[in-house]
Amino acid sequence: MSGNGDVVLIKDGKRLDGRDFDELRDIKMEVSVLERAAGSAYVEWGKNKVMVGVYGPRELHPKFLQDPTKAMLRCVYNLAPFSVDDRKKPGPDRRSVEISKVTSEALSSVVMLERFPNTVVDVFIEILQADAGTRCAGLTAASLALADAGIPMKDLIASCSAGKIQGQVVVDLMKEEDNFGECDLPMAIIPKKGEVVLLQMDGKLSRDEFKDAYKLAYDGCMKIYDLQRKTLMDSMKKFVGEGGIENGD
Ligand code: UDP
Repeated sequence: MSGNGDVVLIKDGKRLDGRDFDELRDIKMEVSVLERAAGSAYVEWGKNKVMVGVYGPRELHPKFLQDPTKAMLRCVYNLAPFSVDDRKKPGPDRRSVEISKVTSEALSSVVMLERFPNTVVDVFIEILQADAGTRCAGLTAASLALADAGIPMKDLIASCSAGKIQGQVVVDLMKEEDNFGECDLPMAIIPKKGEVVLLQMDGKLSRDEFKDAYKLAYDGCMKIYDLQRKTLMDSMKKFVGEGGIENGD
């Protein structure tokens, strides 16, 4: 968030990619894309490309980390070296450790971890191509992959960001807007409860701007939730259509 006033981000009331202020980028979602994972999802969100694989629940090692009252949900968010313009050094850094942590916490609020004592559920979030909003895309895909794995959940987690560019509050910032805008406000919610489980802010907003951005991000999350449910329903219909249940798969 440099807030560089010289870069034009809004022209004739439209954003650089032609979007309205309250319009999300194009989004595609798919589940069951990896054969060897318990559950998986692939999400394209604008130019972001995200793959998630879920493994487990399986026994947690080393044993002293086991909790007899619940499972551990462990997320690894990884930005691939080739996912960004300036090659990223492979391996974890402060940013990826932070995103892994907030993602684990958000997902732990819906996954029924108490059903699987002494185990771990591993969630691997691989960002193959990044164009801002990757933590939201990662969370959205991770939630789909957990559902695809059949792990009991109270609800999905839906995530979307809003922010401010050239003095205008907008939803779902892309890379140029993230780099040269004034603020980014990623959010994740439990849609059925309307409860916010992730809210971060990079930059500055006035109180009124915050209210507007909060509403745009929240409404964005609800749109994502609709897409997530449709994706899971379509996958289930396909499974049943292919005789998955009759075959005892
Ligand atoms: N980015 C990058 N190199 C990095 C980290 C981030 O080029 O080491 C880019 C990437 O496109 C990312 C964007 O900066 O999506 C915004 O990063 P931010 O930390 O705001 O997280 P995000 O918006 O992706 O959740």
